[in-house]
Amino acid sequence: MNRNQSVYDGINSYGSFAKVNPVFRLPLGWRFAGAPAGTNIFFTMRHGGVSRPPYESLNLGFHVGDDHARVLQNRTALAEMHGIDPGGITSPRQRHTARVMLLERDGQVGSGAFGEQSVFDPCDGLITTLRKAPVLLHFADCLPVVLAAGGERPVVTVLHAGRKGLVDGVVKNGVAVMTDQFGAGPDSITAALGPAIGPCCYQVGVSIAGDFQARFGPESVIGANVDLAAAAIIDLKSAGIPPDNIHLLDACTCCNHDYYSYRRDGVTGRHGALAWIE
Ligand SMILES: [Zn+2]
Repeated sequence: MNRNQSVYDGINSYGSFAKVNPVFRLPLGWRFAGAPAGTNIFFTMRHGGVSRPPYESLNLGFHVGDDHARVLQNRTALAEMHGIDPGGITSPRQRHTARVMLLERDGQVGSGAFGEQSVFDPCDGLITTLRKAPVLLHFADCLPVVLAAGGERPVVTVLHAGRKGLVDGVVKNGVAVMTDQFGAGPDSITAALGPAIGPCCYQVGVSIAGDFQARFGPESVIGANVDLAAAAIIDLKSAGIPPDNIHLLDACTCCNHDYYSYRRDGVTGRHGALAWIE
């Protein structure tokens, strides 16, 4: 993938992620090996589920037109693989905003676990300090950014960072809530960036490229293409997170058929970013 390398200096890559490749018909994905003690971060691929084309196979999104029972079966398999309760997985409705919300009450846990309904409607980032309350957001090209801090009071944040949310500040907002409301110092925050459409494939119009250039600088644009991960890293670094705490899976969802890609396929499923506190 052709990137402006200076943005990536000091950033960790593949070695931070362990591919989990269980037997047939079980979810495939990447466990983030650098998650702070007491926190867990997992990025799914599209394999190991029961959904049929064009959603095959591990579609986690109820909202894309797939068979509801199959999505539920996929989410249940993912939960069981991690020893968590599928009914306790919380998912907001995502709308490409910069809005980040708190999952703070037991009564909110499990919103969106069995269908589209969620009390978090709409938002594109969910933060929690609740134990055993996994947060799952959905992706098909947009960038998953998971933030976590361990210690006495662990906190995890899952952000849906597409081009609009990034420009509007979803990553900045996520870091700000962790530092301002939960007292996590920027140098105590670890960031894991999951699979997303890369600058190899993400061609945009002149005005969007201009927005990126203006907001993040020239390193975020390569020719007519934007680099979502570069933009996120620029915001993370400027929020004070050390490069060494930033980890990038660096897989392009559009040229790698192990993932769902809206740009490539239009009607398709959603892979996920899942994080929870033990
Ligand atoms: Zn690509």
